[in-house]
Amino acid sequence: AIMLSLRITPFGERKRQRLLVARDITKIYHLNMIRRDFVANASHELRTPLTVIAGFLENLADSPQTPENHRRPLHLMRNQSERMRSIIEDLLTLSRLEMEDQTDAVQPVDVGTELDHLLHEARALSEGRHRFTLDIDRDLLIAGHQIELRSAFSNLVFNAIKHTPPGSHIGIVWRVDAEGPYFAVSDDGDGIEPEHLPRLTERFYRVDKARSRLSGGTGLGLAIVKHVLNRHQARLLIASEIGQGSTFTCRFPAERALYQAPATPLRAE
Ligand code: ADP
Repeated sequence: AIMLSLRITPFGERKRQRLLVARDITKIYHLNMIRRDFVANASHELRTPLTVIAGFLENLADSPQTPENHRRPLHLMRNQSERMRSIIEDLLTLSRLEMEDQTDAVQPVDVGTELDHLLHEARALSEGRHRFTLDIDRDLLIAGHQIELRSAFSNLVFNAIKHTPPGSHIGIVWRVDAEGPYFAVSDDGDGIEPEHLPRLTERFYRVDKARSRLSGGTGLGLAIVKHVLNRHQARLLIASEIGQGSTFTCRFPAERALYQAPATPLRAE
């Protein structure tokens, strides 16, 4: 089979004609498949030995027989193996997401309830360093993949925690407007230079590598978000201003909006 990429572009002196450009991307497609399978297999193969290493390090670091001067290096090694584990898990998640363009298992997802759980985890991660506000339309559900959406939303909220200074405010919005349902996370942190914005969703792209490592990031979070959204025909919009903060918005097509039955009794607050 041959894969073609088709594009229609304005053409001619007054750009009134149209030019159809067809490119044979069979080779690119195959190379991409090989790359994808390689990453998936390599990550999978690394998982088991790493689990064994991490297990032994854990035991050694905590054992009373371990000499005092070995404890610190053992703890460092354990933390680094934990980091490796997160990277491998994220790579596996990405490979899984890349296998198909569309989400299977579509179901009504109660985003409001998801966000209650997420806020709970966010507060634990922030350890009181951030202020959170929620603006949620609780009657608004979405047709989507629950686990995938959960991972996309939590990546954005955890990013806001990891990449903003203590005392920052983080706002989470789940609402619908004329365009359709949207989920947004805003922070009033340091913001991101405009030249980085188009590249943020690339794998391992980080504005500040050293800082992101310290915060426990794998550099794969936004790539995962992008893939999940693609699979929901949704878009990720990033707006950021230095010194003002950043807003990450997930916009879903209007057809995905579902509404809770109007008979729902009012919740006791
Ligand atoms: P990481 O694991 O490093 O968080 P991501 O793919 O999730 O990787 O994000 C890529 C980079 O985008 C981060 O390293 C960080 O530099 C930047 N970034 C993401 N979210 C924010 C935010 N809310 N404020 C400032 N920078 C951010």
